[in-house]
Amino acid sequence: MTVPNSRLLNLTQAQLKTWVVQAQIQSQRGQLPEYIPLLAQANPFWFAVQFQCIDGQVHQFGNITLLFPLMSVVKPFVLLFLLEQLGAEAVFSRVGIEPSDEPFNSLKQLQADQGLPRNPMLNSGAIALASLLPGENAHSRCESLCLWLNHHSNSQLFLDESMLSSVRSVANERNRAIATLLSQSGYLDDVELALDTYNHVCCLSGTIADLASLGMLLAQCQKPIRLEHCRTVNSLMTTCGLYQASRRFAVEVGLPTKSGVSGAMVSVVPSQGAIAYGTAQGAIACYSPPLDQEGNSVAGVFLLQQLAQVLNLKG
Ligand code: GLU
Repeated sequence: MTVPNSRLLNLTQAQLKTWVVQAQIQSQRGQLPEYIPLLAQANPFWFAVQFQCIDGQVHQFGNITLLFPLMSVVKPFVLLFLLEQLGAEAVFSRVGIEPSDEPFNSLKQLQADQGLPRNPMLNSGAIALASLLPGENAHSRCESLCLWLNHHSNSQLFLDESMLSSVRSVANERNRAIATLLSQSGYLDDVELALDTYNHVCCLSGTIADLASLGMLLAQCQKPIRLEHCRTVNSLMTTCGLYQASRRFAVEVGLPTKSGVSGAMVSVVPSQGAIAYGTAQGAIACYSPPLDQEGNSVAGVFLLQQLAQVLNLKG
């Protein structure tokens, strides 16, 4: 398949290698998150990136066998799954579509909005959506999401049980307060089940190739997945995908992107001059644990800035 004006396809291994080396140096300015013990123990030098083009070309760098948890990177995929299963009306009766300038785990934002989560990329929105996943318990709910994602993206995601134990080992009072307010406002029924499901889906894990495959799910948007659902998810990633840096990143880089506290990051690269993600150029997946002050992977942000500037990927 030929993609017109596909500059992502024109990238050479040597060009990318230069940016990768710079990104790895930059990453050492970042910090590891402290509130999840296993993430705090990550090696700050761990690094993997995959550039994947729609014609099948793949460029990989770093340790491609590393396994890492998606954390908040799972949020757009929970949204896509539920849009497909339940439809937009049911989903957006539980969660809004507006960006927020508050942190990802803000209770203040939820209180200001009378208990309706601002968007699905915040913890409040993702916890509300976790409560809509089909299944009897957190494990089966997570499994149904995992099976669906693996089937449609051809990836091998799995639940990392030791990461889940680590997440559970520290009481997350903020997420609990969010879930309690959601329940009081009528946006979820069972606080424990919603929190447990949310923790499970955040611990879905895989390699950089799996993350790139998830990105391609949004980039290619192949049948039976509806194009309008991919567009909705990509748009929300553009406006809300990078915590408080979302607005700035949308102007500077402009690629639909989602980051997570593990240092994972996934971007969709649209075709030149088109917001038609059905004809995207490809996807970029990056994993590098050190985070900037806004909680985004330093190396991931750096790489995307280089790409967007030099290649004018926005069109
Ligand atoms: N499970 C994490 C939390 O709720 C995910 C946060 C993130 O990746 O931003 O704190």
